[in-house]
Amino acid sequence: MAEKLSAVKGMNDIAPPVSAHWEWLEDKLRSLMLRYGYRNLRTPIVEPTALFVRGLGEVTDIVEKEMYSFEDRLNGEQLTLRPENTAGVVRAAVEHSLLYDGGKRLYYMGPMFRHERPQRGRYRQFHQFGAEALGFVGPDVDAELIVLACDLWAELGLEGIELEINSLGQPAERQAHRQALITYLEGHADQLDEDARRRLHSNPLRILDTKNPAMQALVNAAPRLMDHLGPESLDHFNRLRGLLDAHGIGYRINPRLVRGMDYYNLSVFEFVTTQLGSQGTVCAGGRYDGLFEQIGGKAAPAVGWALGMERILELLKEQGKLPGQPAPDAYAVVPDAGSVPRVMPVLRTLRQQGVRVQMHAGGAEGMGSMKSQFKKADASGARFALIFGPDELAQGCVSVKPLRGPRPGEDAGEAPTQVSQPLADVAAWAQSLRPTIPC
Ligand code: ATP
Ligand code: MG
Repeated sequence: MAEKLSAVKGMNDIAPPVSAHWEWLEDKLRSLMLRYGYRNLRTPIVEPTALFVRGLGEVTDIVEKEMYSFEDRLNGEQLTLRPENTAGVVRAAVEHSLLYDGGKRLYYMGPMFRHERPQRGRYRQFHQFGAEALGFVGPDVDAELIVLACDLWAELGLEGIELEINSLGQPAERQAHRQALITYLEGHADQLDEDARRRLHSNPLRILDTKNPAMQALVNAAPRLMDHLGPESLDHFNRLRGLLDAHGIGYRINPRLVRGMDYYNLSVFEFVTTQLGSQGTVCAGGRYDGLFEQIGGKAAPAVGWALGMERILELLKEQGKLPGQPAPDAYAVVPDAGSVPRVMPVLRTLRQQGVRVQMHAGGAEGMGSMKSQFKKADASGARFALIFGPDELAQGCVSVKPLRGPRPGEDAGEAPTQVSQPLADVAAWAQSLRPTIPC
């Protein structure tokens, strides 16, 4: 036998029944975005490496050590599997002048790639759903995006997700804070880990983002960026807080919240939970007014967030909020494989009428006994068995046998009984197989 191949470490197959949870989440996300007026943008999974180096910043975890980069074998171009999609969205907006007639609200979803150590909630191929509002100065859209995320948690039935916010101010304010921070950290050089020592002069702000437990006390006592903000930045921040208050949305100001990419300014925020171990950030974002110019476009304000779909699904599982599996409305029992040519077109008509029908398949050798077919019908979760027996077919009929009672929330009504339905006029009785409430 040939050697067995398996998926790349940290990259997962998503098969039924789990894939149904993904589709359910994707549907919820799409429907919510539509209500908030966000439209879908699809960009390539491969981008020029320079987009991320320039967009995210050279001294970031992603660019320093997490990118899957390679050279195009024909023209030598440096390419990268996207580690995130904000830079790609902005590139597309610039390339196609998407802001020519004003601001745009966009969303995306899809796989991202980061070479990290795989563990619960952290994978090498993972999936993000992101929302980006381009061309609006805020803070009203900043608030809109946060409120939207809160609505999503409510709609999914999730509890215990907390909001943390901070302001990163503007570049000049960060510069002043940077000096104070370097001086402070230099005074405690003996307590810095290797990463921090390397970043001390290239990107000291990022040191505040450290996950090293040994450095927490040091960074907790570090000079705060908040104390270096000018009146305009403070005003933006306070207006955002006012809007959150107006919605009754609670939050915690976390002065150490700096985010992993260089492109952020003013508002930054994260939604965190304590129920997922150390991978507790489920959604994160902020304002990135400098990114358009950084990647060669005309300046434009922007704000957005991305959520980790694996982490949201894990949290749904943790809280018992995942939906049940989709079941067919009807399962076709076909005792004699010879009748398949008569049966299949009937099933097709039912499906064209919106009925979910699964056919017992297997060919002449594999159909199995009636008993085993009924077992399969029951296991499928179908509400009805359609029995295409020789007697039924001889009379131009099918027997519709109820397998279970009404679905939760449906009118119990009279107990359903087995009926015979004509094959000549399938459309007339097709709807009787559908649930009375949409599923
Ligand atoms: P973390 O601090 O957990 O590494 P991050 O700051 O690198 O997160 P972002 O780049 O802001 O994360 O991505 C937004 C969201 O995407 C995260 O909050 C998280 O939910 C999810 N995410 C990021 N990296 C991964 C990963 N490797 N595997 C699964 N989900 C991830
Ligand atoms: Mg990370």
